[in-house]
Amino acid sequence: MNIGKDSLLHFLFPPRCPFCDRVLFHSLFAKSPLVCRECEGLPEQVGEPACCKCGKPLQDGRAEYCYDCGRKELAYAQGKALWAYKGPVKDSLYRFKYQNRQEYARYYGIQLARAYGEWIQRCGISAVVPIPLSRKRLRQRGFNQAGLVAIRLGKEMGLPVFPNLLLRVRDTTAQKELNEEERKNNLKRAFKTSANKVQLDHILLIDDIYTTGTTMNEAAKELKRAGAAEVYCLSISIGRGY
Ligand SMILES: [Zn+2]
Ligand SMILES: [Zn+2]
Repeated sequence: MNIGKDSLLHFLFPPRCPFCDRVLFHSLFAKSPLVCRECEGLPEQVGEPACCKCGKPLQDGRAEYCYDCGRKELAYAQGKALWAYKGPVKDSLYRFKYQNRQEYARYYGIQLARAYGEWIQRCGISAVVPIPLSRKRLRQRGFNQAGLVAIRLGKEMGLPVFPNLLLRVRDTTAQKELNEEERKNNLKRAFKTSANKVQLDHILLIDDIYTTGTTMNEAAKELKRAGAAEVYCLSISIGRGY
């Protein structure tokens, strides 16, 4: 029997529901669905009111910016995110990163394109660049989660993806263990570009979680320093703003 590469991949990494992790079955006649029937429509996309700069959901509908964006200058032009970082999204991203659920990238990438395809076009994005992992962490995990999502999104949008344009030169401590001041120092000069001159106009940065925005901002700074005209950010999930 001749088993195609795709079928073999399906067999080794059967597509799973990104929210409940059940295997999604497919037949010869129909592709497997992206989520199982029970989890369809789960969770809700980040809606309004949201911060005009970073896209964080806000409690106060009258505020234009979240607390963080209202008091600091950011290197990127605008950011958007798909879901609030909580509940099933948090669990899903945990399995994606730490339990090798690489197949979830398909769903995340497709959903990002569905939700923000128009926005991406409006911003005039010409290239997609994932936030990189340090070499050490990449070795431990075996894959860069943001890279997988960027590749899928690029495919959906017909945009080139440059997974190695940004390098993480400093191995930083897990950001969640630090306070804001420590986070900033922790990330100082954490990124470098692999090309001396970045001849890309409008770059879209991809990450899985946006918390204080320091990571995105430092990466955007580096890209602009190297010559990028404008940088935008897109994350799968985002923390709540104040
Ligand atoms: Zn499910
Ligand atoms: Zn904000």
